[in-house]
Amino acid sequence: MHGVLIDLDGVIWEGSRLVTGAPAAIDWLTRKGIPYLFVTNTTSRPRRLIVDKLRSLGVHADAKQILTPPVAADKWLADNSRDPAVLIVPDATKEDFTIRTAEPDDASTVGDIGAIVIGDIGDAWTYPLMNQVFRLLMRDPAPALIALGMTRYWRAEDGLRLDVAPFIKAFEHAAGCEALVLGKPSPDFFAVALDEIGCGAADTLMIGDDLYGDVLGAQDAGLRGMLVKTGKFRRQDLEADVKPDAILDSIAALPDWWSREHVNQRVNSAADC
Ligand SMILES: [Mg+2]
Repeated sequence: MHGVLIDLDGVIWEGSRLVTGAPAAIDWLTRKGIPYLFVTNTTSRPRRLIVDKLRSLGVHADAKQILTPPVAADKWLADNSRDPAVLIVPDATKEDFTIRTAEPDDASTVGDIGAIVIGDIGDAWTYPLMNQVFRLLMRDPAPALIALGMTRYWRAEDGLRLDVAPFIKAFEHAAGCEALVLGKPSPDFFAVALDEIGCGAADTLMIGDDLYGDVLGAQDAGLRGMLVKTGKFRRQDLEADVKPDAILDSIAALPDWWSREHVNQRVNSAADC
């Protein structure tokens, strides 16, 4: 194993509270020179504010060590020369895009549109905006449709609210296209993350508190999936049909686990010889 991907919410922090021992585990990875990247599905705040939150909790990270769906989308768009892109994303994350952009109603003046990126914009959805997106998707050549995650709904203070997925499904259905999903558990998101740390899937460990979004998503993308018993972990997760490659009480136990694992690997490879 060479690289590590680490979920944030439920692994490093729980709400505003630090998971005990998390900063020491991250310091250990840094001292060992093990490449790691924080991977989160957050689209409500820019990377800059995630760095601030990590620092306030005693975890030193810079923006390049954090991958969010908007950052992954920006990288994918640049790597695939899909500009200009129309951004239908929360205002808070627009600063994470470096690609050339266009407004939805510029389409007749800017020529081809490379992609439409869609996140959860909540109350900002209107029928005219949805129809503008639909018309852009029906153009020839058609722009790529990029979804910042595929969360179906979330719980707000006033009750459940639609997230991004129902809108993406509507556009896919109407335009007969398929969105590229950049957010866990999509393999495309894990592919961007692996590219960032320069490690192969088989050599990389994903650490998360979500049995499906983190552990199964990683395993489906060819990585090893480690479950931590913090955050959203529930005892029932241990009886589920998804079997994590490792289970730790919390990320604080990572250095000991890693050292044991590497001793075992050395013993096994010596036995193979
Ligand atoms: Mg989590």
